Amino acid sequence: MSAQLLDGNALSAIIRNDLAARAAALVARGVTPCLAVILAGEDPASSVYVRNKVNACEKAGMRSLKDIYPADVDPAVVFSRIAELNADPEVHGILVQLPLPKQFDSQAVLEAISPEKDVDGFHAENIGALMQGTPRFIPCTPYGVMEMLKSRKVSLKGAEAVIVGRSNIVGKPMAMLLLAAGCTVTICHSQTRDLAFHTRRADILVAAVGRPKMIVGAMIKPGATVIDVGINRLADGKLCGDVDFESAKEVAGIITPVPGGVGPMTITMLLANTIEAAERRSGGQE
Ligand code: NDP
Repeated sequence: MSAQLLDGNALSAIIRNDLAARAAALVARGVTPCLAVILAGEDPASSVYVRNKVNACEKAGMRSLKDIYPADVDPAVVFSRIAELNADPEVHGILVQLPLPKQFDSQAVLEAISPEKDVDGFHAENIGALMQGTPRFIPCTPYGVMEMLKSRKVSLKGAEAVIVGRSNIVGKPMAMLLLAAGCTVTICHSQTRDLAFHTRRADILVAAVGRPKMIVGAMIKPGATVIDVGINRLADGKLCGDVDFESAKEVAGIITPVPGGVGPMTITMLLANTIEAAERRSGGQE
């Protein structure tokens, strides 16, 4: 292997230590940072994500609330619970686990969350602030990727950054953050004509597609920083990313693994956003 491994678990442990200290300082002032998580339906991956988020809160000395609804829940019930949580001064962050069952208008649900408690950063107001270069809550996965790049002092100014995937939760906010940091950004998607032409130019390559091992070593510029956001479950039950780690690690300069890369960082930045929300509400960090 020639590439250096960028270990998301190790970096998360360092950041979570700092977050636990910030949470403890809030608790000492009588404010326990609290994240409320809403899950509708029985999607097994979503259930695991929610469990991991709730456990991470507890380990960081934060409080969490968990509302789980059956897949056929009336959307009105969820909207009414969000209104309650918006009004509750002891709740600092609200997260609705996606995807939602088909009877929901997901965007309407995200818009129902108060922007001050939107710790996922998906509310239109928060997305708008990010676009303007004055982010309030940065979506957790791209936020985690930026922290990973920062931890290795990856040079961003003038770098060619290529993102594969243009979703609202990963690809688009990732592009905005890299653009703000001075990269020249290309966003690829399912209609991109020659994907490898673009990926081979990338100093920083972010894969966020949801297709196992689609980015192979031959598509990577030697020495590039490769960030694999994808989480795919193979037939044998194992997890893998969108990057073919075996061939990519021989070409890349820095590479993230799956599992143990971007995944833990996403949860870490969710904790960071929730603590940030609690600090803002209680008049700032001491
Ligand atoms: P979406 O399905 O919303 O978006 C996938 C994107 O990939 C779309 O923009 C799509 O293009 C593009 N795409 C699909 N096929 C191709 C192709 N052949 N070539 C180029 N682009 C293609 O997924 P998400 O952004 O929500 O998630 C992406 C991956 O990241 C998933 O594996 C997900 O599980 C994982 N993920 C991981 C997280 C973590 O914490 N590590 C957090 C969130 C997601 P088009 O728009 O044209 O359809």
